[in-house]
Amino acid sequence: MKQHHPSVNVGPTAKGFSPGFVSLGLEAPLLATLEALGYEEPTPIQREAIPPLLAGRDLLGQAATGTGKTAAFALPMLQRIGHDGKVRPSALVLVPTRELAIQVGEAVQRYGKELRISVLPVYGGQAIGPQLYALKRGVDVVVATPGRALDHIRRGTLKLQEVRFVVLDEADEMLDMGFADDLDAILEQTPKTKQTALFSATMPPRIRSIAHRHLRNPAEITIAKEPVKAGTAPRVQQTAYVVVRSHRAAALARVVDVAGAKSALVFCRTRLEVDEVTAMLIGRGHRAEAIHGGMSQGQRERVMQAFKTGQTELLVATDVAARGLDIPQVSHVINYDLPSSAEVYVHRIGRTGRAGREGVAITILDPREQRLLRTIEQHTKARVVVLPLPRVADLRAKQLDRVQAMMDEVLLDGQLDAFKPLVERLSAHPPADIAAAAIKLLVRAQGWDRPEQEIPVAPPRSPDMARSIQHAGRAGGPSRGGSAGIDRQPARRLQRGGREAGMARVYVGAGHEAGIRPGDLVGAIANEAKVHSNVIGSIEIEERFSIVDVPASMASDIIEVLGRARIKGRRVPVRLFRE
Ligand code: AMP
Repeated sequence: MKQHHPSVNVGPTAKGFSPGFVSLGLEAPLLATLEALGYEEPTPIQREAIPPLLAGRDLLGQAATGTGKTAAFALPMLQRIGHDGKVRPSALVLVPTRELAIQVGEAVQRYGKELRISVLPVYGGQAIGPQLYALKRGVDVVVATPGRALDHIRRGTLKLQEVRFVVLDEADEMLDMGFADDLDAILEQTPKTKQTALFSATMPPRIRSIAHRHLRNPAEITIAKEPVKAGTAPRVQQTAYVVVRSHRAAALARVVDVAGAKSALVFCRTRLEVDEVTAMLIGRGHRAEAIHGGMSQGQRERVMQAFKTGQTELLVATDVAARGLDIPQVSHVINYDLPSSAEVYVHRIGRTGRAGREGVAITILDPREQRLLRTIEQHTKARVVVLPLPRVADLRAKQLDRVQAMMDEVLLDGQLDAFKPLVERLSAHPPADIAAAAIKLLVRAQGWDRPEQEIPVAPPRSPDMARSIQHAGRAGGPSRGGSAGIDRQPARRLQRGGREAGMARVYVGAGHEAGIRPGDLVGAIANEAKVHSNVIGSIEIEERFSIVDVPASMASDIIEVLGRARIKGRRVPVRLFRE
């Protein structure tokens, strides 16, 4: 798939809408919503998926989270059901987990705001009463996990006979979770005339088989298969930090503070994010400015000038804004989130490490986007080292290094006579105390005495990822003066199929529905089987069951003991999990 680079037209069209989205055939209410969200142009998957879906075709799309896939199906879905009048529900989106049901539900709601589309996320573990009530009242789009959707179909509370649009999102994960039969049963309830879109990060034969059974002559799309041309990817030290969405801003702040960059580009996906991030960085005492397509030419020129002269240290930009600009070599490129394709990634990091100089590219990403990071690595043939986020101690050590450098410089420069009388006046105090007090004032003046909190380690989602996590000190990353968080907190992998060598998966027949939380399982295993909680790997909790990774050598003991124990007060079936 080609990446278009509208290099000059960074502003909105005459009507105020992004020309990229207009050309896909989206109508005014959706364009207005995208404008308000600060989306400047479609991502590659959106460019490919939206036109055939708008034309009414079924679609088979290979795309990972982070590519903009939700909007790729939600926008055409909303436009199509928007014309349908009062069929309720008129669209069904099936997703593998409750987290996704909530996340996708929120996204669809956001995109459908102008169209006044009502959306209901439906998932297990949530009280059924309010769901029944909402379904009875009528909603336009239901975003559901397969198990709960089937429950409602059986109760007669979810009627799909008139559904117009069905999406299977992350189909491979749904199959991995054993939802194949549920999917068939649900799709059987839908009319033959409906339109269907199936998205999957991978395309194994079992996905093709589902597609064959349920899609009619689908348009097939895949995110860029061709590798980025050899030599086009710049030689840059590339690192990534994995944090959950809610800690992304804190992670960026930590990364920027530790990097101490004198000229860095911070990339965001949307205008809104650019504004939020800029405000946050300024609030923390950084000299940051925003640049995006919503600004006038004059404003952009002024911002660029300040950046070129070093007056601004951090330039926070969208891809579109940055593309149209003559940006000088920068020391760091920081991706506030993973860009939606390998091409955009290469383009972004190409701003650093130019002309033989050393460049650093840092990416912050959500655990769900790790697959996309792998794809980017494959396409760029470059390794992105995933490191644990610098801890507070690492930041403090960095700050003290900087203080030392500042003091060294002043001491070397001499010319201290003007201040020596004051030192005399303070001579009642020990000299070391006087110096420490002066340093304390300096630290305070820099704003480096601000209280900081540790940012929780996000679980890596694949064994590859776990292996690529290195000790920050050893990897030469930004962390110094302290051991990295991951060493103290064992990584818990959450992905099904993402089992490390030597680990076995244990099935526990209780999940969200029974109120099970990871702590219950860790507690039960650690107490009953007398093993240290550190040895327990990923824990995945579904509606009616859970899967726990444990060392294979201990699996049979754990299964035996756990089978006899009570979890949350009751006996539950425990056995080795078979895929
Ligand atoms: P998804 O792959 O659907 O999970 O989307 C990943 C992120 O990209 C979400 O935070 C979206 O809000 C954002 N996003 C999706 N499409 C665009 C776009 N065209 N421009 C900017 N951000 C986008």
